[in-house]
Amino acid sequence: MTLYMYIRLSDADKDLKFKTESESIANQRALLHRFVDSHNEFAGYEITEFIDDGYSGTNAARPSFERMIESLKNGDAQIVICKDFSRFFRDYVEIGDYLERIFPFFGVRFISVNDGYDSDEYKGTTAGMEVVMKYIVYSYYSRDLSQKVKTVIKSKVSHGEYIGSFPPYGYKKDPDKKHHLIPDPEAAPVVRHIFDMALAGKTISQIAITLNEEHPETPSAYFHRAFPGCGRFKMTSAENCWNNMNVGEILKRRIYTGALVSQTKVWKGLDNPHTVKKDEADWIIIPHCQDAIVSDDEFEQAQSVVRKVSKYDRSASDYLLRSLLHCGVCGRTLSRNSRAKTIYYMCDKSKHKSDTQCPVGEKFIEKELERVISADLIEKLNLLVDSERRMRETAEKLKGSEENLSQSLSRIERGLKQNAVARVSAYERYSDGQTTRDMFLIERDKLAAEAQQLTDEKPKLEQELMSLSQTQDSELTAMADTARTYLKAEALTNQMMLCFIDRIDVYSGMRLHIHYRFSDELAKVLEIVES
Ligand SMILES: [Zn+2]
Repeated sequence: MTLYMYIRLSDADKDLKFKTESESIANQRALLHRFVDSHNEFAGYEITEFIDDGYSGTNAARPSFERMIESLKNGDAQIVICKDFSRFFRDYVEIGDYLERIFPFFGVRFISVNDGYDSDEYKGTTAGMEVVMKYIVYSYYSRDLSQKVKTVIKSKVSHGEYIGSFPPYGYKKDPDKKHHLIPDPEAAPVVRHIFDMALAGKTISQIAITLNEEHPETPSAYFHRAFPGCGRFKMTSAENCWNNMNVGEILKRRIYTGALVSQTKVWKGLDNPHTVKKDEADWIIIPHCQDAIVSDDEFEQAQSVVRKVSKYDRSASDYLLRSLLHCGVCGRTLSRNSRAKTIYYMCDKSKHKSDTQCPVGEKFIEKELERVISADLIEKLNLLVDSERRMRETAEKLKGSEENLSQSLSRIERGLKQNAVARVSAYERYSDGQTTRDMFLIERDKLAAEAQQLTDEKPKLEQELMSLSQTQDSELTAMADTARTYLKAEALTNQMMLCFIDRIDVYSGMRLHIHYRFSDELAKVLEIVES
């Protein structure tokens, strides 16, 4: 007595965004063996496996499948079992053919484990249509597929597995364990440092100022370096600075306590590609998934800092151009003479040495510097806001194409449903003797080709839709938001300066070279917007 197992990994599996392991060969095999082992009636059967790796169900070339059918014709096996119909058949007409005619003719019992189908239960009946209908319901309605993917994600999440494509800042993917995070030796100390400052009572702005002075990379710059070529954050300059936004973001991430947080957003499905934020109460939080960078207590304490509305407190030591001015010749920080009646800056080197190119004895009046630099910064902020506005207009246009994509997808869904119905009725007409077999076969092939074309189109559109919503999720908006806030503020502050200006070189005669952190970025944005 022989039992055949048919296992197939299809091309479609690879296209799934989250490749479901349950579809892999090993898992299919394990599932089938578990099924056989748990049914005494199969004891004593000799098992032979037939495996097609990577052949699409619609592709005619399934060498192992062909071999198996040939062998069944010779009566080599009594039972065939597979995971589900979609592994086995190219389409429901084929299911009908096999279940109603071919298998009974071969005297083969056919079991599809996940469909709960066992041909023994239908002995003597013509249950082909019933099964066909069930198959249509399961395989042609896209929600089945997305549901499957969602189920896998959910189950991974509930097992405390990290399923994001990229690790969150502060962590990296564990090379030894899939879906597991370990602290990133480079970024984790920065995260810890930020929490330490918050716990020491610093406001978010003060933390940002400190970080900018120490100049560690920002999360987006780090991301650029760690994942070059990745589209994410591509709107953000690698020079982007620490600010209330990215510091606050880090202080708010519960993941640093070792917990995994998920289901924060709901994907509304293909008809509506936007995600919607869920109430925090509905988030799934699973503690102790990876090593903690901060304790739960520390995290809760830090939340009070996040909630505190951080006013740009301008203390006496926090003067407008603090840590920005450098001598254009020697590069030293210009020293500020705050005791003088008119506060001025000068290069210390020139103070002590006269044989230097530095502007010897030149006093740069603070008021003058502030006026010139502020004016320049405001001009740049306006430029940034303006670029963002134009960028947004472009995005609006893209949104149009997003709607087109959604519509195309619905059209495909509808087409597939209609096609499925048409194929069933063609089959019914043939079964009822209203059409000849030849006519039926022609119609079947025509409809099959049409369905194939629609099916081929679908993943491409889904991909486009996905990448489109990703591009729109850019940090340029965040930068422009900051610029807008600054422009509305009563006065500029040192923190605002530090956020946009890297350094200012001062030369004799008060010639200034202002190094903006976003100058490259702006150029790029302008380029994109104008093109
Ligand atoms: Zn100098």
